Amino acid sequence: MTENHKPVLRFAPSPTGMLHIGGARTALFNWLYARHTGGKFLLRIEDTDRERSTPEAVGAILNGMTWLGLTWDGETVYQFARVQRHREIAEQLLAQGKAYRCYATAQELDEMRAAQRAAGKPIRYDGRWRDRDPNEAPSGAPFVVRLKAQQSGETIVHDVVQGDVRFANEQLDDMVLLRSDGNPTYMLAVVVDDYDMGITHIIRGDDHLNNAARQLQIIQAMGWLEPVYGHLPLIHGPDGAKLSKRHGALAVEAYRDMGYLPETMRNYLLRLGWSHGNDEIIPTAQAIEWFNLESVGKSPARLDFKKLDNLNAHYIRSMDGRALADEVAAVLARKEPPQTLSQSARARLIAAMPSLKERAKTLVELADAAEFLYADGARILDDAAKRVLTEEARGLNGEFLALTAQIPWTAAALEEKARSFAGAKGLKLGQVAQPIRAALTGRTTSPPVFAILEILGREESVARIEAYSA
Ligand code: GLU
Repeated sequence: MTENHKPVLRFAPSPTGMLHIGGARTALFNWLYARHTGGKFLLRIEDTDRERSTPEAVGAILNGMTWLGLTWDGETVYQFARVQRHREIAEQLLAQGKAYRCYATAQELDEMRAAQRAAGKPIRYDGRWRDRDPNEAPSGAPFVVRLKAQQSGETIVHDVVQGDVRFANEQLDDMVLLRSDGNPTYMLAVVVDDYDMGITHIIRGDDHLNNAARQLQIIQAMGWLEPVYGHLPLIHGPDGAKLSKRHGALAVEAYRDMGYLPETMRNYLLRLGWSHGNDEIIPTAQAIEWFNLESVGKSPARLDFKKLDNLNAHYIRSMDGRALADEVAAVLARKEPPQTLSQSARARLIAAMPSLKERAKTLVELADAAEFLYADGARILDDAAKRVLTEEARGLNGEFLALTAQIPWTAAALEEKARSFAGAKGLKLGQVAQPIRAALTGRTTSPPVFAILEILGREESVARIEAYSA
């Protein structure tokens, strides 16, 4: 633990692709635990694999985290920049006799493995240089540095999610710490970085559970304090199968583009593997208050897009008009070609938002349903609106317009006029209102039509209705 005994957590992605949904959940759990405990949440980019790491992937991870609101404390740590320090620890282990140089050639190791395979034995480094006198080493020959691991007994990962997971040491061979080119292995780098960063809790996917045993061996050899481990079960697709490309929508960015809010994503990702009774709606502030490691589930969580939609609809409804107008503006800015929202369109959006937001499951739907508010001029009709705007209906539109010339342009006055007009004609209010709606919006569902008339204003409304009047 650090001096002040507050937990220090980290998210340690490898920048080999997008920030995917599993990684985002790992980041969220670490972040929540840090915020819950008043500890720290650090970010480390594990870019030691130079072939597979790309700056684009680093960018995608940082953007994804920022979009999700998972702010990290302090500077981002780049693992590759710390290679010297990793080597230094390997040297220390060598000096203490806890690691050794192995001069086995690639060919020798191939032969070793072939023999093991032929004998039906597990494939494992056989320790051939473990106790050999270093003086026997061929001079100038390349070598790797291996950990002189315990050969008997057990390495136990005390895991807050999985319980105690035991590994027989005889199953774990002497792992490579430094490669023959002097570069550290991933196993060494992770352990050294976690130590130097003061990490107290390691929460990550359970695909790293076996690595934990290996990493513990290094930690124990160094005499460092063991961190608390929590290995999260994987996320499965809606069909229960392991999550794969086939399921689509793996990148966090895709969720943004589909119109999901960061708050929705935090709530949704939280529920993928963590529960608090039957609560489904858990806003972030509440999540920070409640989050613990004991309530992480042991079995794989399943994606459920219906739940995601329901949560998103909930958070859209709970947002205020201005903030939603900003979100709509962001959706428009991402369009090809990008569209901008004028000040007047923004004002209209905000005015109509109380009703608009009741209907939208995503921001994309919201932007789409609001199109009639930010794009001026006569509407292009959808099929249902075409059916509404019969010759007769267009006639009603024309008559109604004529009646409005002298009245104030307010929702109340317009509605009153429409009622009396319908009454005089022996029609229901809807029979008058629906053709107006179709002309104003190009659709047959929308926020209340008289409110729209007021929001669009006299000039714009008249122009749109005239386009579908007879
Ligand atoms: N870099 C690893 C990954 O992206 C995570 C390592 C860790 O959390 O210890 O899977």
